[in-house]
Amino acid sequence: MTIHLEVAVAAPLFQSLTYSCRTDQEPPPVGVRILVPLGRQRVTGYVLGQQPEAKECGYTIRPYLRLLDDQPLFPANMVPFFRWLADYYHFPLGEVIKLALPGGLTLRSRKELALSPEGRASLDPDLLQQQPAADQPISARQQKNLAQLGEAERQLINDLLSKGSLSASASQGLLRSGAKGLIGSWQRQGLVTLEETLTPPAIKVKREWCLAPCHGPRPEKLKKSQSKTLTLLHELSQPGQQGQVPRRDLTKVYKGAGPAIKELASLGLLHLSERELFRDPFGERPPFFAKPETLTAEQEEVLARIKPAVAEGKFSPFLLHGVTGSGKTEVFLRAAETALAKGRSVLVLVPEIALASQIEGHFFSRFGDKIAILHSGMAAGARFDQWRRIARGEAPIVIGARSAIFAPLPDPGLIIVDEEHDPAYKQEDSLRYQARDLAVLRASQQGATAILASATPSVTSFHNAQQDKYKLLTMTKRVGAHPLPQVEIVDLKGVKTVSGRPPLFSPQLMAGLKENLAAGNQSLVFLNRRGFANLLLCADCGETIKCPHCAITLTLHKGKNRLLCHYCDHQAASKPICPSCRSPRIKEMGFGTERLEEELRTALPEARLARLDRDTATKRADFLAILKKMHKQEIDILVGTQMIAKGHHFPHVTLVGLVWADAGLSFPDFKAGERTFQLIAQVTGRAGRGDKAGRVLIQSYQPDHYAVQMARAHDFQGLYEREISLRQTLRYPPFARLINVKFSGLSEEATRACAEQCAAMARSWGQQKELEILGPAPAPIARLRERFRFQLLLKGWHLPSLQALAHHLRHQPPPAVRQDKVRMTLDVDPDTML
Ligand code: ADP
Ligand code: ZN
Ligand code: ZN
Repeated sequence: MTIHLEVAVAAPLFQSLTYSCRTDQEPPPVGVRILVPLGRQRVTGYVLGQQPEAKECGYTIRPYLRLLDDQPLFPANMVPFFRWLADYYHFPLGEVIKLALPGGLTLRSRKELALSPEGRASLDPDLLQQQPAADQPISARQQKNLAQLGEAERQLINDLLSKGSLSASASQGLLRSGAKGLIGSWQRQGLVTLEETLTPPAIKVKREWCLAPCHGPRPEKLKKSQSKTLTLLHELSQPGQQGQVPRRDLTKVYKGAGPAIKELASLGLLHLSERELFRDPFGERPPFFAKPETLTAEQEEVLARIKPAVAEGKFSPFLLHGVTGSGKTEVFLRAAETALAKGRSVLVLVPEIALASQIEGHFFSRFGDKIAILHSGMAAGARFDQWRRIARGEAPIVIGARSAIFAPLPDPGLIIVDEEHDPAYKQEDSLRYQARDLAVLRASQQGATAILASATPSVTSFHNAQQDKYKLLTMTKRVGAHPLPQVEIVDLKGVKTVSGRPPLFSPQLMAGLKENLAAGNQSLVFLNRRGFANLLLCADCGETIKCPHCAITLTLHKGKNRLLCHYCDHQAASKPICPSCRSPRIKEMGFGTERLEEELRTALPEARLARLDRDTATKRADFLAILKKMHKQEIDILVGTQMIAKGHHFPHVTLVGLVWADAGLSFPDFKAGERTFQLIAQVTGRAGRGDKAGRVLIQSYQPDHYAVQMARAHDFQGLYEREISLRQTLRYPPFARLINVKFSGLSEEATRACAEQCAAMARSWGQQKELEILGPAPAPIARLRERFRFQLLLKGWHLPSLQALAHHLRHQPPPAVRQDKVRMTLDVDPDTML
């Protein structure tokens, strides 16, 4: 009986396909990759399961070609998870899985020309050396084409005819040359084929040689280098590692060990073996944290509800609303202990681990090498190693950023989402998923406990708690009873402008910084924008300097001496001339963290300053170095972006300044108020976490805005009530659901026309009463990476009918989308309209 496999292929197909196993082939387990034929190509496929024999599929079922993995990359219980994602986000199933797996695994295919069996039989290898004989299948036109070819092309054709195939690069050369027409007609005659070949993926399992001493007496007569090597080996081998010592470790301390190792192995005095090596994901180890002796009363209360749920092993979603510094991390650690004790695994999501996080240090201190780390800042090889460890069940705790939601844990019993409100949980390209939502989904599919935690929960999650969809847990007190800091607002409208531009530092903030410095305390200065100046204006005609590829102004980065586009990474010389009047007189307007640092250096020359943003901390090591200096109080004032706001515990920081608190309020976005509140609260939470009281200064142009006012009063409840009634009136989430249909293309006209067609289709679609269709309109960033952008917003009160419309548009898109002239993407539950 033939075994049939259900396979999702890494191609834009919405359904899975069926392949068979030949009798000599092993049926592959769920979660491994196999190579399969798809049309004339060969592609990667992911095994989803075995299928009943009789299933009618409307095409000839072909056998798979070969296995690509020695172990599954995901457990069978993730198949329903992937199916749900494909369905909900309207994304091809195979591509969902491809994106979920660590990058660099997919075989790259290249095209090679080869003679078909017919071609071999009928085309004379010496075709070009003589007049074609009468029996050759060569038309007059082809002969003419042949006669016109240059020497290089003749040579390539000769190679093809004599060897039967060409390398990928030679094939490309020929297909681009004057011989293109000839090859094309041979292809149509079935004499020549263009085949996909596969080059191996960039990432492989890494192995290293290990040594172990053999038992038994040491012979008397040994060379000096041999006995020295043996002695070292005995010293280095630890009982915990079954006596295994990496060869590298030995040769590092003793150069002469290399030859001696070989000799000793052949004498049977040591044992050589190869083992899989894990590339160290930590780079630099995070700091150590001791386990506290006792829990706070609130931690006890909260754990009294979480632990039984974890132990019971049923789906159980919690929202943990705990003020900054209330000790949420300790709650996670204890809940994790319970899950491990039940033999289940733990997944911890944090907003941006690309560099590092304090949580990682806490977990590492408590659980050591049970931990696997997954984040985008890791080298692909290291990520792959971690992935394999997790899939084999060797790392029962996974800590990672957004994409770690796909970690192949065999049996997660606890899924934690820290700072659950953070926008970083939303993936903003290709598969636009929300990892926090997926965490709850995965927990529900696995019978796991989910803990969403934040000091400032998202309006949606808090609403879910109010509706009893999540169980609400509250922690209101900071550990050690440090009070929340005092927050003062500085109205920037009332601050005098200096030389025509508003100051970055109001007199109040500058005085605060000076005072704090004099008192020997640390300060944080926060602005969510990097670079020196983000607006360059021509002094003569007022034109702005824009990215040539995007409708976005370039930002001056003085340190790098470059102008950068923050959207497409375009770089330009730092001394531009006006594109419209050619004037070299360019004014540097707008500001970023780099300018803050420079102004502070001038104003407070005695202060020890540091800056933390994506420019100063490109590597994890840079980031950890700055954090360490901050902890050791070798920095007086730390200037930075979001990066300094997230999750750090700096006990000696007593002043926090927000340079422009309401920057986000100018965006056309229903979440602007919520975001602004969260940001202020988060930054505020960095102050006064030690023994000294904290003070926060917020500079704002809209000091009366409710988001700013409620953040000042630490009033989450007030913010929530205000937002939820606004959303209800304006019909926004969580009351309505949104899908943003985005169009982009190289032609502005074609893209607009396509968006309009799509809008017309949506409006004429059946179930109108539950839906509202807004637009199309140009996107807020109207051009990005050369492409013009439009969007159409679908709003619905009934999710299934909204999803049905999206499904309809995805499967019957306007012709320009089918012809690949316009790209259409669906953003389900969009987080921003940009
Ligand atoms: P949150 O994540 O809620 O903002 P943290 O988990 O960072 O707060 O905790 C704040 C500080 O309190 C940390 O330094 C942590 O080590 C400490 N802490 C937490 N729980 C306890 C406890 N039970 N006893 C003593 N210190 C604690
Ligand atoms: Zn000009
Ligand atoms: Zn750009």
